[in-house]
Amino acid sequence: MEILEHMGTEGHEQLVVVSDVGSGLRAIISIHDTTLGPACGGTRIWPYKSEQEAIWDALRLSRAMTYKSAAADLPLGGGKAVIIADPHTEKTEALVRAYGRFVDTLAGRYLTTTDVGTTGRDMEYVKQETDHVVGLPTTVGGSGDTSIMTGLGLYMGMKACAKEAWGADTLTGKTVAIQGFGKVASHTAHHLMKEDAKLVVTDVFDGALDRARDLGLKVVKPDEIYDVECDIFAPCALGGVINPNTIPRLKCKVVAGGANNQLLAETDGEELHRLGIVYGPDYILNSGGIINVETEITGEYNPDRAREKTERIYEITDRVITISKNGEIPTAKAADRLAEDRLKSVRGIRRLYRSNKITPGSN
Ligand code: NAD
Repeated sequence: MEILEHMGTEGHEQLVVVSDVGSGLRAIISIHDTTLGPACGGTRIWPYKSEQEAIWDALRLSRAMTYKSAAADLPLGGGKAVIIADPHTEKTEALVRAYGRFVDTLAGRYLTTTDVGTTGRDMEYVKQETDHVVGLPTTVGGSGDTSIMTGLGLYMGMKACAKEAWGADTLTGKTVAIQGFGKVASHTAHHLMKEDAKLVVTDVFDGALDRARDLGLKVVKPDEIYDVECDIFAPCALGGVINPNTIPRLKCKVVAGGANNQLLAETDGEELHRLGIVYGPDYILNSGGIINVETEITGEYNPDRAREKTERIYEITDRVITISKNGEIPTAKAADRLAEDRLKSVRGIRRLYRSNKITPGSN
């Protein structure tokens, strides 16, 4: 499909193609929707094989941010930027600062933050060129590591799913199988362990498994995680892991994880629904990160406020489950409906007449 045709179909507002020869910067900034507020989303640095691949990724990711922020009740739209470069070998101060200058030209229509390939330190460089950046390290007054709130939000979302599955939101005694024991999963595990849940984890990285063993957790091989007898399966590593090959192996009553794009296709959400497995939609449960940075945008960062807002993921998940039940639709679809309804209602606000102030004799 042609790019402009795709933007028209999916509702994208703006696509900015950026080049700075001196620093080697080649980037795409995609603004999907600013109905609810400035487009916000991370900057991804990735060695894309082609410009086309980078453009499609920016378009797809910016749209996902519109839905995530809309469902999380944030005053933000959806945006995303991708820089075509290898973050390990091609990321320089000049490249990142050049990028910051282009973000500045958008005059606040797009607020950037960290993503794959960028760190809080990079955002400090961006900050030297523009004020339209969040996700700075706590040492410079920013909101810091997003995975802390993402981990908390995932735990709250799990509890809301548990209430639907078992009639009570306690996770005491429940077995949670976690795929990927990285930053988000470790923070979620901390809350789960405090509630005496039983954890079984896997990872492809030995260091992560050592950390799990040090905490006394049961560890299984990466492919065995789908077969674990558990109550909750928590994908916290990769996308696409809920698919026709893995669904028949799952022994759980709830799927609730932090990874993005867990369902390989929409039909996989329908299949979970048909099987009576409660699926906590990924972008609802992992919205703690964007909630955290949003508190940095709207005032001085306050961790208590970020925590309180992140805990609301429980109610939002609950609302999604209610929409799913009332409409007899999968929860993934119910989450989209929640986001779309909010966008539609705010789009419908009536324009009010406001006269320009003209002082007599001023011309
Ligand atoms: P991370 O890199 O710290 O952790 C991911 C872990 O998964 C790593 O330990 C990695 O070794 C492991 N892993 C990779 N492939 C695996 C496989 N095949 N099987 C088992 N384990 C595997 O990343 P993170 O920040 O914890 O993020 C985890 C997921 O949550 C990602 O999908 C990310 O996009 C998503 N997410 C993160 C945040 C955040 O705030 N960090 C916010 C929203 C969504």
